[in-house]
Amino acid sequence: MKYVPTIGLEIHAELKTQTKMFCDCLNDPEEKHPNVNVCPICLGHPGTLPVINQKAVEAVIKVGMALNGDIPAHSKFDRKNYFYPDLPKGYQISQYDLPLVFGGSLKGVRLTRIHLEEDAGKLAHDPDGKHSLVDFNRAGVPLMELVTEPDIKIAEQAVEFAKELQLIFRYLGVSDADMELGQMRVEANVSLKPLATSDSPLGVKVEVKNINSFKAVHDAIEYEIKRQAELLDKGEKIHQETRGWDDVHLKTVSQRSKEEAHDYRYFPEPDLPPLDLSKFNLGDIKKEIPELPQEKRVRFVKEFNLKPEQIEILIADREMANFFEESISELETEDKENLQRETELILNYLTSDLRGVMAEQGIGFHENKLTPENFADLIELISHGKISSRTAKDLLREMAEKGGDPNILLQEKGLEQVSDETALGEVVKKIIEANPAAVADYKKGKEAALQFLVGKAIGELKGKGNPQILQKLFKETLS
Ligand SMILES: [Zn+2]
Repeated sequence: MKYVPTIGLEIHAELKTQTKMFCDCLNDPEEKHPNVNVCPICLGHPGTLPVINQKAVEAVIKVGMALNGDIPAHSKFDRKNYFYPDLPKGYQISQYDLPLVFGGSLKGVRLTRIHLEEDAGKLAHDPDGKHSLVDFNRAGVPLMELVTEPDIKIAEQAVEFAKELQLIFRYLGVSDADMELGQMRVEANVSLKPLATSDSPLGVKVEVKNINSFKAVHDAIEYEIKRQAELLDKGEKIHQETRGWDDVHLKTVSQRSKEEAHDYRYFPEPDLPPLDLSKFNLGDIKKEIPELPQEKRVRFVKEFNLKPEQIEILIADREMANFFEESISELETEDKENLQRETELILNYLTSDLRGVMAEQGIGFHENKLTPENFADLIELISHGKISSRTAKDLLREMAEKGGDPNILLQEKGLEQVSDETALGEVVKKIIEANPAAVADYKKGKEAALQFLVGKAIGELKGKGNPQILQKLFKETLS
């Protein structure tokens, strides 16, 4: 390409605080009834006074620290004036020149700032086009805005940055950051400049809004780079404007040009005192930052000898990563090879079977009745060939629901797998006598016949025969 793309991101995230930003109303994104969590403050009634939510300020400071930003000694809130039906006060309390965090970086992308503001309400438009309804439950919910420097060069890098940021928000417990639910919203500023004059100033910036998924982040940026390149190729000028991403037609559409851009007439919020951040206990906030995804990745590679893609599945959920680690620590084997095999068994049963059962039962790791200790016991039973994978899956389902020690459950149910070679040898002899045709096929070199015989033996043992040992015994007897 003849142009160098320059991309910067603005990311909003709703904070998971108990109450709203400036009042005691519940901050509950799950609330389905409109206008329940409202009061004169978040409805902007005259004569009311906002009070700053300390937890929201601390959450933003925590994010700033996790991303190596600077926390200034002083900060303040400002009024951003504009009219929109979902904004009851006629202005939004935001931060203009003194945000809570300056600088920082993530995945090689520098951050400009992070500030705190309040969210707006939600409009619902009647399909007949005659009415619009407004719900103020979300009005006044704490909203964090993070702005990057224009350091991003390609769409993939923007996606990688946004995904890692979402993971960090979740690790810090400040936001669930679900993009589909609008808890995290991405805007991309995209500009192109000719390659030949790469030290020239940046090209004209186009801001893309309404991006509601990681795929849309990627597609919207790719589309905008292509659109601008085609215009420049034709010798046309790029207009500074705001465009929206159309998820149905997969294109950006013009929303407003620079001439129509708002002048927000920011001024310091007169109802709130300036924030003296030196009064916050920054040391205590720092202590609440857990091991972050990147540190965990590096440590898991070293400690568990797993593939990067396996580790990625684990660390995508902090509770799951913790459960994995606690389960490993309960394993009793000293042998290195055994340990590696059981580690992989834990990983597989955890990320597929257990997660599947929990999804079916609609429970998370904190509601799961299965303890890491009992889970490790179950893995050892599988590893030592004492139970079949079918029995393991059944036990796992029961243990996730009700808890319990798998060794005791096994005895109670009489499900223990038969691995005793003498007992199995008797069954092998019996099956060979009863199936002469399959035996003849196997002797002619048909491997499938062996599986058939093993299956017959397992059936005879009501599912409790160890398939590996049975296979070995059949081979020995028939050789
Ligand atoms: Zn309120």
